[in-house]
Amino acid sequence: MLRVEGVHKSFDDFKAVSGADLTVEAGQMVAVIGPNGAGKTTLFNLITGQLKPDRGRIIFNDEEIGSLPPYEICRKGIARSFQIANIFPRLTVFRNVQVSVLSQQRKSTRLFRPARTMALDETRNILENVGLSDKTDTIAGALAHGDQRALEIAIALGNNPQLLVLDEPTAGMSAEETGTTMALIRRLADEQGLTILFCEHDMEVVFNVAQSIMVMHQGITILQAGPEAVHNSRQVQECYLGGA
Ligand code: ADP
Ligand code: MG
Repeated sequence: MLRVEGVHKSFDDFKAVSGADLTVEAGQMVAVIGPNGAGKTTLFNLITGQLKPDRGRIIFNDEEIGSLPPYEICRKGIARSFQIANIFPRLTVFRNVQVSVLSQQRKSTRLFRPARTMALDETRNILENVGLSDKTDTIAGALAHGDQRALEIAIALGNNPQLLVLDEPTAGMSAEETGTTMALIRRLADEQGLTILFCEHDMEVVFNVAQSIMVMHQGITILQAGPEAVHNSRQVQECYLGGA
């Protein structure tokens, strides 16, 4: 579904990503790991179009997407969440997701009827899926941190994506919230056939859920393999796990 080949990105003279390779098969859960500053967020920004690669190729469903703007990449089927939750804090939970569903359907908000009466079923379904049905009227900014992250995933789902890209979905969560969130992500992958690419610093989470793990170090892909091969790799231990 997604192939990243030899991608580079510098900020002035600093090479944030300098040879990233990644393969994501349809239906897989793929994790990107690597120490702080390894280039994980930069790589995700390149995949979703927030940044443009200096060189290398990003191919989604056999199409080069490296030069496309974020909204076109989103329409092609890649949705993402950010390392810091990105919601409309003053809107209700319901409206946050409804706006996303409407934008995906490219519905003009005032053409025939008020936007608030549109996409109600889709919005309710998504909120049920992420476990926020009982908080639809809550102002998003007032949600607990874990629920805000769940809402962010719901907003991403409003785009009806094939590939969901999650940047540290459990950042700042308690152990309990982490468990709930990872169970949710896993269920989305299982039940909806969603393909999921995520990065995560919690190794227990990564080795529990990922079918394939890509290891980044100083902007470079060291290895992509199954959990066991990554766990046993001497190169990975030396570069990354050994130092932790
Ligand atoms: P990670 O997500 O793996 O922690 P990042 O992709 O956020 O790593 O960052 C990789 C490196 O690139 C870091 O050293 C970071 O400081 C640098 N970096 C990221 N974004 C920018 C930017 N917009 N301008 C300059 N340097 C950046
Ligand atoms: Mg990051």
